Parts: sequence; C-alpha cells; structure tokens
Amino acid sequence: MILDVHPAPLLERLVPSTSGDTFTVLDPSTGEPIAEVPRVDGAAVGAAVEEASRVLPGWAATAPRRRSEILAAAHELMLDELEPLAWLMSLEMGKTRADARAEVRYAAEFFRWFAEEAVRIGGELRTAPGGANRILTVHRPVGVTLLLTPWNFPAAMAARKLAPALAAGCTALLKPAEDTPLTALYLADLLARAGVPEGVVHVLTTDRPGELVERALADPRVRKLSFTGSTPVGRALLRQTAERIVNTSLELGGNAPFVVLDDADLDAAVEGAMIAKMRNGGQACTAANRFLVHTAVADDFAELLSARMAALVVGPGTDEATQLGPMVNARRRHDLATRVESAVGDGAKVHTGGAPLDRPGFFYPATVLSGVDREGVLSVDETFGPVAPIITIADDDDAVALANASEYGLAGYVYSRDLGRALAVGERLGVGMVGVNRGALSDPAAPFGGTKQSGLGREGGFEGIYEFLETTYLAADW
Ligand code: NAD
Repeated sequence: MILDVHPAPLLERLVPSTSGDTFTVLDPSTGEPIAEVPRVDGAAVGAAVEEASRVLPGWAATAPRRRSEILAAAHELMLDELEPLAWLMSLEMGKTRADARAEVRYAAEFFRWFAEEAVRIGGELRTAPGGANRILTVHRPVGVTLLLTPWNFPAAMAARKLAPALAAGCTALLKPAEDTPLTALYLADLLARAGVPEGVVHVLTTDRPGELVERALADPRVRKLSFTGSTPVGRALLRQTAERIVNTSLELGGNAPFVVLDDADLDAAVEGAMIAKMRNGGQACTAANRFLVHTAVADDFAELLSARMAALVVGPGTDEATQLGPMVNARRRHDLATRVESAVGDGAKVHTGGAPLDRPGFFYPATVLSGVDREGVLSVDETFGPVAPIITIADDDDAVALANASEYGLAGYVYSRDLGRALAVGERLGVGMVGVNRGALSDPAAPFGGTKQSGLGREGGFEGIYEFLETTYLAADW
C-alpha cells in the first residue's frame, strides 16, 4: 500500500516532478489546491506515441495467459489498495467514501473480467456457401490506443478501457479528465506493479485536452480512440477521427427516463430512485434524469422521494458521514443552478433543495421538483447532478413516447409490480440499457453502451474486447 490516509506521501510518489508547465487540481469540497500536475506538451505526446508503438509488437506477442495473469494481479492489487485509491477519488472528485469504495470494486472487476477474456480470443472456421473453400477468421490487436476518460468515475472509466485494451494486446495512452488526473496516475503506478511492461501504458495529463488530443490523433500510429464523456465533445472527436478513419468508440451522455407505472411498489421505486439518481451525487451518465410517474401515484412518489433526498448528509467526500458530496467544479454547480431556475420559471414546484448551498466548495443540495415542463431544459437535456424532476404520465404509451422523445438513448428504468408489463415497456425504450425494478445497471459482464447520440460501441461483456481487436479472414482451399 502506498499511503496511509494522507495525501502528501501519495502525491509526492505519484505526480512526476517536472520543470515544464503544470496545472492545479482542486479539492471540490473547499475549492483549495491539492496538487500541481504536469501539463504534457506536444513533444511528450509524440514521445509517448513513439514508445507505445515501439513496445506494441512485444506486448501483442506476449502469451495471452501472461497478459491474463498481469490483469488478474491488477485486480488483486486494486482490492488490496481499495482504501487509499477510494480516498484519493473522494479527495479529487468529491464522491462519498461509500461511492468511492464501490467504484474501486467495480473498476477492479474489469481487470478480473478481461483477465478471463484475454485467454478466450478465438477465431472461426466457416465453409464458404459455394463449398469450394474455407474461411478462417483471426483477431489481432488494433494497435496504439488513445483512451479519454471523464472525471465522474476516474477509476472505473479508465479500467473499463485499459483492461480490454491490455487484454487484447494493445498499448495505451490514457488521457484523464483535468479535474481528476491523480486517480489515473495511481492506476498507472498500480499497473506497473502488477507487471505491465514499461511503455505499454502512458498517462498524459493536461488541462488543455483539445490540443493534446488533436496532436495524438494526427499521428498515424494511433489506430483507436475510445472516448467517454459528453455528446458535444464526442461529436467533435468523431469529426477528427473521420480524417484518418480511426477506429472510434464513444460512450456519451444520457437523459435516462425513470418510469414509475401506477401499479409500482412505491417503496421499491423510491429505493431504486435513490440509487439511480443519487449514486455519485447524480453525476453519472446512467443517472435517472427524468422521473416519468403515473398521475395516480405522482404525489405519493414526490413526497416519499423528497423525504429521502432532504435527509441526506451533505459534506466533503472524504468525511465518512457524508452522503452527498460537492459537485466536481464551480462550472457544474452553476449549470445546475441555472437549469433549476429555468424549470422553476416554467412553473415547476420545489419540494426540497432548489438553490446552491452557501458554503465553501461546490455544493448543490439534493433537489426534487414536480410539475416540470415536458419541453423544458430539465426534460430535454442531460442534467448532471442531484436534481430529480418529476413529470406526470397518463399511461404506458405516454411514458414510452415521452421517454423516447430524446436525442439520447443510454439508459432507462421501469417500475411495475407486473413483470410482463415492465418488460414490455422496457423493451420499447430506445436505449442501450434498462433497469427493470432495479436502480443499478453497471456490471463488467454486461455490454455497456447507448443508442442514438449516446454513443457507438459497447464496453464490458463479451463484446468489450472486440472494440480493441481487428478481424482478418483468410480464405483457403482444403
Ligand atoms: P467532457 O466531454 O467534458 O470530457 C470528457 C473527456 O474529454 C475529458 O478527458 C476531457 O478532458 C476531454 N475533452 C474535453 N474537451 C475536449 C476536446 N475538445 N478534445 C478532446 N478531448 C476533450 O465530459 P465530462 O464533463 O468529463 O463528463 C461528463 C459527461 O460524460 C456526461 O455527459 C456524461 O453523461 C458522460 N459520461 C458518459 C459515460 C458513458 O459510459 N456513456 C460514462 C461517464 C460519463
């Protein structure tokens, strides 16, 4: 374990000393600086691509069993070091201790899952329909990969990309979000100790992501972009990767409907809503973003949910008692405040919360609104925070129509005591993932991803490794 629960020794060990430019990482619960991190320049990006491409053949040729053992060692190390890693995320991102511990377990599981997948990369043999020849398919690593991750799950989003990339035999340039670079530096250190050879993984920290990414994508040796983040940035990156037709996977924003039908078990629905809405302080792409509740139960649901939300203990993520930490930065908090004001201006009723908290740091309270306009900003756009807008629905068809009236299609939730009815509604939602009487979705064994403007490709599951593999077929007569 590299630290006790104190930042100084950890930061000293993790943050490379540099004579070049740096940027400051803030503690979102105070707004005070925690660390100075290198602002990687174009030359360093070039050097990283050079090394990642030099060691690529050796790593790609490493026996799958050996790659698997290294990933399994990473899984073990992460669990051994759960406390310091979780604490670091609470410090730099503001998530609660419970959320941070859950994220380390979830992130570690990707290394275990892909350790198991590394030795199962197979091919196929088919007979050509004409019968004259056979077709043999084989897979090989796509090459040097560029992995861009958001700040909301700094360990899990990196693990969800690094684990399949390494299992497939690719090398990786990981560019973490500027708000949370420390977790990525920790992960790189951990992977080296697990046995990943030097040069296979590089962490490129910067607060000027546009420049760095443009530089990396211009290099013909970079053959894959895997991005998790917002839809506008994903769209801009897709334009860039179109230049050289770089293999691109995108995990983008969401606007998840949480449908509560008139026969739902309301206690279970509220329990699920607390998970789907409040995990990570509402800063999750799968977070329930719109509560579409049948008119017959909407008042009861609003009352029960508001009581739970109002009771949450707000404080720094590093405090054991905290149940809702700060937003990650001032911009995010301001964005929430503006959206809620707009909804209230459109006639929404505030049940609890509704305005930023007057204290240092970037705190916004758990907020429940009812009577929210179907066409308003809280209905049509992704709101990244602890805000629960309730919109009433008349029946199942109305719920499906409203749920699908969105440019996003990442996740959705349905609550009904009638499983057949819940599954029927769930199947009609135009999203990649549906929680049926369940507020939690993420699982390394499941294919994670969205439809429409929520992204391209799937991470995790049996599908995840193929995002990092190319297919070649060989035709032969025998
Ligand atoms: P963001 O798009 O602002 O940033 C994501 C990453 O892209 C960061 O590393 C950032 O530094 C980088 N980036 C920003 N501008 C860039 C540019 N011009 N060129 C290249 N890279 C750039 O998103 P965020 O605010 O960090 O994360 C929140 C968003 O991520 C939300 O929309 C959320 O829904 C989404 N998200 C999606 C998933 C998923 O799996 N679908 C998971 C988590 C978060």
